[in-house]
Amino acid sequence: MDAGHPGSRMRGSQTGSARGRWWLAAGLAALLAVVAVFTMAGAGQGAPVQRVLLQRGLSAETTTVFGPPDPSLPLVVIDPGHGGFDPGASAPDGRSEKDAVLAIALALRDELVARGGIRVALTRTDDRFISLRERPALARRLGADLFLSLHADSGGAEANALGASVYTFAPRASSSEAARFGERENNSGLPGDNGAGDAAPAVQDILADLTRRGTRADAAEFKRLLVRESAGELTFRQPPTRSAALIVLAAPDVPSALFEVGFITNAGEAARLHSPEGQAQIARVTASAIRAYLARRDRS
Ligand SMILES: [Zn+2]
Repeated sequence: MDAGHPGSRMRGSQTGSARGRWWLAAGLAALLAVVAVFTMAGAGQGAPVQRVLLQRGLSAETTTVFGPPDPSLPLVVIDPGHGGFDPGASAPDGRSEKDAVLAIALALRDELVARGGIRVALTRTDDRFISLRERPALARRLGADLFLSLHADSGGAEANALGASVYTFAPRASSSEAARFGERENNSGLPGDNGAGDAAPAVQDILADLTRRGTRADAAEFKRLLVRESAGELTFRQPPTRSAALIVLAAPDVPSALFEVGFITNAGEAARLHSPEGQAQIARVTASAIRAYLARRDRS
């Protein structure tokens, strides 16, 4: 957590020292080695690694933006968690978190687009894998006003655990439970791509970025509004709002939140999260929180 790190790295590259050139050469060699390994793996049976690589690099140009084609309107990026080979948590009946959150994301998109005045993009609209880093990167490329990742919780040994919660980014987790949650979500997907070793430089970069403060305050405001708009509709855990060093929320300039819509490991909640009625209810309250957030931001 050395906030000075990015600055010192910048000085090194500006002076063009021999040491800097050595690191550049070493980095390039390492990159070529990685490309060579992936190419060799891709030539093998089934080419699973190559398929994953092709799905990375979500392009802002090819991403569909739903809603009116007016760039002055606010843009919300909805991120259904997991996908493809990464199912996320599983319900007692075997159904996956990735399917429930995709259905909720599509319902939320429809809800937002139907009432107009907001543009919406999704990190995925079908069952595909996208790395944790690529998700916020797309929101940044699109210049999104809000990034919302949708997940469903896993109770582990606690089969009766229930309730929604909403997370924003903080380098230090709000509780040991939130820290465990952050670790679990950061390690989903590709090994080596999302691991804790990768998280440290990202956290340092974020700490160095002063715009992050305003972004975090905005994200905290959205988190509060989401709980407010859900009152009388959704059951929340205590405390309802939490924070953790989640890679998917690490964009320094896009207010970002992760909504755990309920526990998929709880049979009752899983049935609701997989039902069109339950999905529509979550979409409705989330859409009103998004509208309240954007309206407030425009007033200030
Ligand atoms: Zn998840």
